[in-house]
Amino acid sequence: MHEFHGGCHCGNLVIDYTTPTAAADTSVRACQCSCCRKHDARSVSNPAGRLAITVHDENLLERYRFGLRVTDYLICRKCGVYVSAYMARGDEAYANVMVNALDARELFPEPAPLVLDGEDENGKWQRRRRQWTPATLRIQAP
Ligand SMILES: [Zn+2]
Repeated sequence: MHEFHGGCHCGNLVIDYTTPTAAADTSVRACQCSCCRKHDARSVSNPAGRLAITVHDENLLERYRFGLRVTDYLICRKCGVYVSAYMARGDEAYANVMVNALDARELFPEPAPLVLDGEDENGKWQRRRRQWTPATLRIQAP
């Protein structure tokens, strides 16, 4: 397994991503929605991997939502870095990782554009269960 560490710039949001795929062999996606384009987001995921998101100060975590409002776009309120898109139902949760937030960002290939217009909530959930990474979001006790 390959382990990638990262997070936001100020250290409030920490990412630990474990995946069977090496950085150079990863298919990197550039979602073409208006939000991702404003961040120049490049995302990766692997359903056989694990993603742990640790939040030091929950007051500085923005769970930005738009459109269908079923996904939390995790952004640090202090430093503004977008680290992950996260979707949960019951006790299942899946997320992707923004390559730009990983320390090893330079090792990943160029992204391919991804257009997801027209998906409904269930369509998003089903696709993400297949393609995203099982994730945990842990808020550290104050
Ligand atoms: Zn931050």
